[in-house]
Amino acid sequence: MKYQSTRGGCPEQSFEQVLLTGLAPDGGLYVPTELPHYSMQEIASWRELSYPELALKVITPFIGDEIPAADLRAIIEASYAQFNHADVAPLQSLGNEEYVLELFHGPTLAFKDFALQVLGRLLDYVLTKRDKRVVILGATSGDTGSAALEGCRHSDRVDIFILHPHNRVSDVQRKQMTTVQGDNVFNLAVEGNFDDCQRIVKAAFADQSFLAEDRQLVAVNSINWARILMQIVYYFSAALRLGGPEKAVSFSVPTGNFGDIYAGYLAKQMGLPIDQLVVATNKNDILHRFIAHNDYSVTELAKTYSPSMDILVSSNFERYLFDVYDRDGAALADFMAHAGKDLLSVPAARWERVAAMFDSAAVDDDTTCEVIASVKAENGMLLDPHSAIGVEAARRTRRDSAVPMITLATAHPAKFSEAITAAGLASPALPEHLADLFEREEQFSVVANSLEAVTDFVKSHARS
Ligand SMILES: *Cc1c(COP(=O)(O)O)cnc(C)c1O
Repeated sequence: MKYQSTRGGCPEQSFEQVLLTGLAPDGGLYVPTELPHYSMQEIASWRELSYPELALKVITPFIGDEIPAADLRAIIEASYAQFNHADVAPLQSLGNEEYVLELFHGPTLAFKDFALQVLGRLLDYVLTKRDKRVVILGATSGDTGSAALEGCRHSDRVDIFILHPHNRVSDVQRKQMTTVQGDNVFNLAVEGNFDDCQRIVKAAFADQSFLAEDRQLVAVNSINWARILMQIVYYFSAALRLGGPEKAVSFSVPTGNFGDIYAGYLAKQMGLPIDQLVVATNKNDILHRFIAHNDYSVTELAKTYSPSMDILVSSNFERYLFDVYDRDGAALADFMAHAGKDLLSVPAARWERVAAMFDSAAVDDDTTCEVIASVKAENGMLLDPHSAIGVEAARRTRRDSAVPMITLATAHPAKFSEAITAAGLASPALPEHLADLFEREEQFSVVANSLEAVTDFVKSHARS
């Protein structure tokens, strides 16, 4: 399988090349040049597979012969052995053909573990093969950081630097990052907000001259294609357990950078019968306004109870827009250069395709708390705020009550106790393997809000 940039300005790359980088040199994101397509019969034949076996079926065509099958199998099996539930991604019923897909049984309690457990092992494998070492640099508003550290800390071939906004992540999220031990692990608390962190990371990727010559930066946020790839799997897994592919199902996805829902869109393009794909947002609702009204204007960033979705402009949306622009990289590059500034909508014919593909809703903090309380009262299930937004968006947009509607539960409620207590419920306990989190020793460095402060830190701490 080959990969191309969404802006059409650079040569095609292999899976390994795409794995070992961030954005394409022309500023675009890498996407496969074509998608595998499966018949209903073929998808149905996967019904009895375990989660790791299903993952191998789904991802192998995207990797081709770059990684031998036995090695890929070992990577996948080791990754999902870290999960605390036999089903890996279990489904729970809310009645009325409504379901919740629990994606928080991995080591760091958010769906990011599905991809980052694999990404860490893939990197180690490829770097060992090439006898190479890299520097991982990433910014996090909370969940990506801990999942990336947990997925990559065992690799002797990476030094990993994660930026988070100082004093602006939850206590649990910070502790999960800063208590990870390892002499290749560095947490930087930047005296700024998440956007500042992202800006610094982007600038560092654009000019990597501060690194030793034999090093390069690798991205662990969802601009890295491997993140998207691993998330396609649970759409197949959930659908197969609810009667798919003979029966269509719908998904509602709490959305920030559009990585998770984009994986659902790809599953549908690959032949999985999906009826509705619902983009669930909080008050930061640019995607909802765009899908509902063709309004792509950028507003002020609002702080909400669902911080992992507090994002203004979603990086992965470009991957989807590439298809909306009929894979014309030059036309998309032109749109991206003006998007959100002087260009606030796309031509009507293109937007109609967006509106036909996705439903959407924006859910505010008060409603989020109401949903957390009512689902707890009616079903005994405690949703985290992101997942609650997904459930509410599903209910607002659902067209056919006979079609199973599956909401992706993206995080464990113990990660976001502020919303739970605001909903009038007791703060949930952390699962056993994290029960002593607050007693563990923290290690992080506070750095100034500047590119130079961060690159100087990386330069002096990366192992030679
Ligand atoms: C990252 C995250 C999201 C958003 O996922 P995207 O792929 O960025 O759309 C939603 N909920 C939680 C808990 C997350 O950690």
